[in-house]
Amino acid sequence: MGIQTHKTFCRFCHANCAMEVDVEDRPDGKRVTAVRGDPDDPAYGGYTCMKGRELPDSHNADHRLTQSLVRDANGEFQSTPMPQTLAHIAGELKRIIAKYGPDSVAVFMGSGGYQNSAAWAASHSFTQAIGSKHFFTSVTLDQPAKVFTTARYGHWAAGTNTFSESDVALLVGNNPIVSHYSPPGGVPPFSPSRRIRDRQKQGMKVIVADPRESDVARLADIYLRVKPGEDPALLAGMLNVIISEELYDRNFVAAHVDGFDELAAAVEPMTPEIAAGRAGVDADQLVAAARMFAGGSKGCAVTGTGPEMAGNGTLTEYLVTCLNTLCARFKQEGEKTGIPRVFTPQMVEPRAQVGPDMPMFGADGMAKSRFRGLGQLGFEMPCNIMADEILTPGEGQIRALISVGGNPVVGFPNQAKMVRALDDLDLFVQIDPWLSASAKRADVVLAPKQSLEREDITNLSEWWHETAYARYVEAVADAPGDVIDEYEMFWHLAKALDIQMQLAGGPLPMDTEAPPAKETFLDLMTAGSLVKPSKVREDAQAAGGAAVVYDDLHPTVGPADPDSENRFDLAAGAMPDALSRYAENHEAKAGFNFKLISRRSKTRFNSIGHPLEKLRAKTTTNPAYIHPDDIVGLGLEEGGIVEITSPHATIHGVVKASDKVRRGLVSMAHAYGDAHADKTNVREIGSSTNRLTSDETDYDPITGQALQSGIPVKLEPVTPEPVFQETA
Ligand code: SF4
Repeated sequence: MGIQTHKTFCRFCHANCAMEVDVEDRPDGKRVTAVRGDPDDPAYGGYTCMKGRELPDSHNADHRLTQSLVRDANGEFQSTPMPQTLAHIAGELKRIIAKYGPDSVAVFMGSGGYQNSAAWAASHSFTQAIGSKHFFTSVTLDQPAKVFTTARYGHWAAGTNTFSESDVALLVGNNPIVSHYSPPGGVPPFSPSRRIRDRQKQGMKVIVADPRESDVARLADIYLRVKPGEDPALLAGMLNVIISEELYDRNFVAAHVDGFDELAAAVEPMTPEIAAGRAGVDADQLVAAARMFAGGSKGCAVTGTGPEMAGNGTLTEYLVTCLNTLCARFKQEGEKTGIPRVFTPQMVEPRAQVGPDMPMFGADGMAKSRFRGLGQLGFEMPCNIMADEILTPGEGQIRALISVGGNPVVGFPNQAKMVRALDDLDLFVQIDPWLSASAKRADVVLAPKQSLEREDITNLSEWWHETAYARYVEAVADAPGDVIDEYEMFWHLAKALDIQMQLAGGPLPMDTEAPPAKETFLDLMTAGSLVKPSKVREDAQAAGGAAVVYDDLHPTVGPADPDSENRFDLAAGAMPDALSRYAENHEAKAGFNFKLISRRSKTRFNSIGHPLEKLRAKTTTNPAYIHPDDIVGLGLEEGGIVEITSPHATIHGVVKASDKVRRGLVSMAHAYGDAHADKTNVREIGSSTNRLTSDETDYDPITGQALQSGIPVKLEPVTPEPVFQETA
């Protein structure tokens, strides 16, 4: 027995922090004993967070599933060998497809699926091979407008300014210090707090807009405590200042932008006073923020998931696009491209010009849903329509769902309806290492390998690397029990169904007994990439498993093609008219005088992290953070339980005082709880804020994004149960 140390990277979340991992050779196989940040890594420099440091527990916990589970005739789960489990699923899928057609099979990629570099491609390719339009991902649960806006209003072929070169940054509802997420141009998720402070020492100005004084807001040069859901007013007011004071890049706009006059007319009524009044901020601060943003030479405005979840998501993203476009926050000829992306093929030549149109939404030939006029967004259907497509008989009804590390019970809007839909399926397969809230309702739970038991590449985090940074890591621990990689699951199912999976590089070999090696899969998946995964693997092995940076392959931005007619179009589709409708419509829901806003949890990656002991030791619930004066005013008690009621449903929360939260708000992390969470168990499992939301009444008409933050609610104390004492 001995301990070996390997270089690897964390896959608990999308940040992929570089790690060293100790593995012990035990009689039952190689087991992970410790992890720590890798101080030698050029991008991460030893950074990790508390979630990543729990990887050993995540791999070795007693209650991890090491066998798949299939329900028997009595509805009880039975541990079942992987081959029989997959044969059972394939048999059911054959029956369902024969009866209802290919669209009856849906696949949902959730947060757990994104821990595996091959899972998106495998699950998408499998859905395509079946011929089903019903491929869903968590992108349409929290930020579809980013995808839509890029496609609809234009994108710069060479990418945006990067954070490291910027002298100004505007973060709207984005708290990368906890979420480890920012869109390109925002703060890279590796050591985000240190990164921001380092840039500030070099002169960067940081503007943060957030209803809550978040971790990043505390570092801001200007902090705007905007009301939830009123980001459009704030952004339109800033555009008003930038246009009226002619602070924008007039040469860039003349050369590359259509629709400027329409935008200028739409923001004209949003004077600083009117905009600030609606947004709940100080007008002078709004003006100062606009001047500071436009006064920088480089630096982007970015949003987190909150502003998209708080209503008017598409309008908000559009206005952010307008800020970046008018201020020309893009890479220019002769510079290195913003994000070189080693594994994701560049679809567009990096030139100093607007890229070609991307027919991402509603174009001819793109699939439509039967509900709410919604349809395919990029590669996927919007999650908004899944429950209705399951519950409603007719052409295209979904009867089988494979959830790849998702947790629809606590992640989808309208929890009660989603739970009804899951229970209505003919077949619900959940890929999950734990009996999560969704796995507990499944017909079959497929037990996957955990991250350190498989090979992976850094394709999912390369959207934040400003250099051509790449990793190919090996499996360093032995998988216990009977678990396999997600790509192997889909390969076996496809083979049993006699369908051909295709990847970017061509057909996946299907005529063998066993799936192709992961390296083969990854090479086919990334065809056309800057460097093939197999080559990165070779180079990484030569470097002792460390990252490889291909500086010499980092593309340089070329000159604009003189024949190109591509331009940003800021007056396309529903914008900017949507701003006028927003400005006219300011109704509060009667009787609901508080708003519930979402927040990130340090101990969870969405719903992932719930079973891990050390994370549970920090908290088992998602407290309801409320301003101390509101706690007094409502007759609540710190540590007591509050009943939170929206127009749709009621949940409970454990009261926690915070003067960082605006008055009139309650701030809670999402994706906690379970379908049965209530006041009796809220301290142990937390509450599902998605129960308060509706897929049918409060949603973005373009993307289907449900209102999941800034939800109108009312708060009432829960009277403690009387304690009876026996009398003598
Ligand atoms: S930020 Fe994400 S990738 Fe990094 S250690 Fe934490 S969980 Fe792992």
